Amino acid sequence: MSSPPDPTTLPDARGHFGTYGGMFVPETLMAALEELTHEYERAKADPAFRAELDALLRDYVGRPTPLTFAERWTEALGGAKIYLKREDLLHTGAHKINNAMGQILLAKRLGKSRIIAETGAGQHGVATATVCARFGFDCTIYMGEVDMARQALNVARMRFLGAEVKAVTAGQRTLKEAVNEAMRDWVTNVRGTHYILGSALGSHPFPMMVRDFHRVIGEEARSQILEKEGRLPDYLVACVGGGSNAIGLFHPFLADGSVKMLGVEAGGHGIKRGEHAARFQGGKLGVLQGTKTWLLADADGQIELTHSVSAGLDYAAVGPEHAHLKEVGRADYTYATDAEALEAFQQVSQLEGIIPALETAHGLAGVRKLAPELGADGLIICNCSGRGDKDVAQAAKAIFGEEVFG
Ligand SMILES: *Cc1c(COP(=O)(O)O)cnc(C)c1O
Repeated sequence: MSSPPDPTTLPDARGHFGTYGGMFVPETLMAALEELTHEYERAKADPAFRAELDALLRDYVGRPTPLTFAERWTEALGGAKIYLKREDLLHTGAHKINNAMGQILLAKRLGKSRIIAETGAGQHGVATATVCARFGFDCTIYMGEVDMARQALNVARMRFLGAEVKAVTAGQRTLKEAVNEAMRDWVTNVRGTHYILGSALGSHPFPMMVRDFHRVIGEEARSQILEKEGRLPDYLVACVGGGSNAIGLFHPFLADGSVKMLGVEAGGHGIKRGEHAARFQGGKLGVLQGTKTWLLADADGQIELTHSVSAGLDYAAVGPEHAHLKEVGRADYTYATDAEALEAFQQVSQLEGIIPALETAHGLAGVRKLAPELGADGLIICNCSGRGDKDVAQAAKAIFGEEVFG
């Protein structure tokens, strides 16, 4: 038996992470994806590109982010010591801007003048609209009608920033349909348009490129924990929608055999068909929106409905690199239900003075189970992928049972 490919060196030249990933796109997009791959490789090797991106991450985005010891939460859980990597403190309120900033610089190099993007919770739309404003690009964001209603605050932010937000009314009216519309737009306007995809998903080179732009999370966390604790953590924990914040934290630790990794998917109302978005629970191998990966589909291959209290985790497919890491046993994946995420949301708000995003709260719910199991000698870093401002109305309704805002 041949040994599985070394996870630290993937993907291969065609975007395969073992059996996952690849380029499953219409013929009309192949030239653009190859041009993008080529320009990305050139940019990566260009010290001027890295220097410009680093300067923007520092002076505009707000890097490095702190690694915060969650002292009272650690005490309350009575187990492992917990640190939070504070991506919630970045400009625009989530990790998404690391990737948006990298890709806008690439779009500039490619000579494009128009940007499109999809968004679920609206954080990627806001990050994209922000970098478009900063660099003077025309910006169109596709968003499902259901998500526009539950993330109305972010819709307003995108419009303030000068972006056009296009409501997607097809199907379930959430993230999957928004991606379909963005891809349709890209096929039609590919010459002058760059598509800033928002997670470690889709066709090659996006899963690799998005991961690389988020690796800074793990690189910083690694040196910060060594400085604070003099050793590597036992566990990394992060919520997994498409998987970009998780892979950004995990990737720089892949070669550190002692560091375990836990991704937390959205368990929604529990693992019943149509009631969750935990692809590794009851999902199967398939192809969706450019990539081969684990997804939620019925016996005929039709994509199933998904549900999560957090719009940012409410998607039927997981990033292909996570599928590979699970297969080779390098990372484990679990899920948190809506109720568990809301409990973690309240606990961390009240004990740490940090109101997390509902997506992030799924990762925190994973920590609540893991910390007591690991015991007092254990050390955990959980990625605080975003802040909860966008979720105030939704969380208030769920927790207090009342409509706080019209
Ligand atoms: C978008 C989002 C996520 C989920 O996306 P990933 O690509 O899985 O990271 C998680 N947390 C926040 C705050 C988000 O905005």
